[in-house]
Amino acid sequence: MALERNMAQLEAYKKQQSTEQQNLKEKMDKIKYKIAIISGKGGVGKSTVTVNLATAFAMMGKHVGVLDADIHGPSVPRLLGLEGQQVKTTDSGILPVAGPLGMEVMSIDFFLPEQAPTIWRGPLKMRAIRQFLSDVVWGELDFLFIDLPPGTGDEPLSIAQLLPDMDGVVIVTMPSELASTIVKKAITFAERLNMPIIGVVENMSGFICPHCGVKTEIFRSGGGKKMSQQAGVPFLGSIPIDPEVGVDSDKGTPFVSSHKDSAAAKAFMKIVENVEGYLAKDKQR
Ligand code: ADP
Repeated sequence: MALERNMAQLEAYKKQQSTEQQNLKEKMDKIKYKIAIISGKGGVGKSTVTVNLATAFAMMGKHVGVLDADIHGPSVPRLLGLEGQQVKTTDSGILPVAGPLGMEVMSIDFFLPEQAPTIWRGPLKMRAIRQFLSDVVWGELDFLFIDLPPGTGDEPLSIAQLLPDMDGVVIVTMPSELASTIVKKAITFAERLNMPIIGVVENMSGFICPHCGVKTEIFRSGGGKKMSQQAGVPFLGSIPIDPEVGVDSDKGTPFVSSHKDSAAAKAFMKIVENVEGYLAKDKQR
């Protein structure tokens, strides 16, 4: 009797797994490009790069989704001016929050009471990320940008397992010798997980004086570029330190749209061109 009950439970579990798998595939098949943004270390500007990449493509008329997969330190809602928003659930699933320029945004922040700290164990994080992909009504998207937490923990592993057809990862770093070691780890990590690498972005690469236009190297520069060249991975470009970037982050208005003429935005648009170039080549293969 006990054996029969166990077998029935096992069958029910298998059925549930295959329904979930099917659901995930159906949702993800509707998204043309899935791109994750990773960094070996926090505070290098990974989330800033994510929201500005998303904004740049949305400005070109693309339908863009942004998934904040940073369960412990979600910052996408703040960077897109969506703090305090809550998700709505319908019969077809969880609706993403409407962001600027028609962007569809999902973050754990939309589920939590304000400022609530989150304590998550590995399997729960995996579950949350799976639900973000399979239970959210993303619809037809040109791009889904996934902001992963720094380092090489559960979240990037979950994403790699759940999205075996990911189009690529963008690695964000700062220009220092330490950063180059960290980038090397991020490259190895992406390679081990079979995630194609679109390239490396070096953020906070020098400071351009807004008064005289002279560039000062605040951190010892070139580490990210050198490392990507050594590893044979494309270098997508660098973004200077710009005080307006920080102001825009606090206001929730990505600099690529709100300060189009700044040195940071111009540098960023070159990175966007390089990402487009990679994707165009990738689709020809
Ligand atoms: P991460 O996601 O890697 O932790 P964030 O994107 O949250 O990093 O950026 C960390 C801080 O650095 C934020 O306050 C952001 O506004 C600021 N920042 C990021 N890039 C730049 C830049 N190029 N110039 C000036 N400030 C920047």
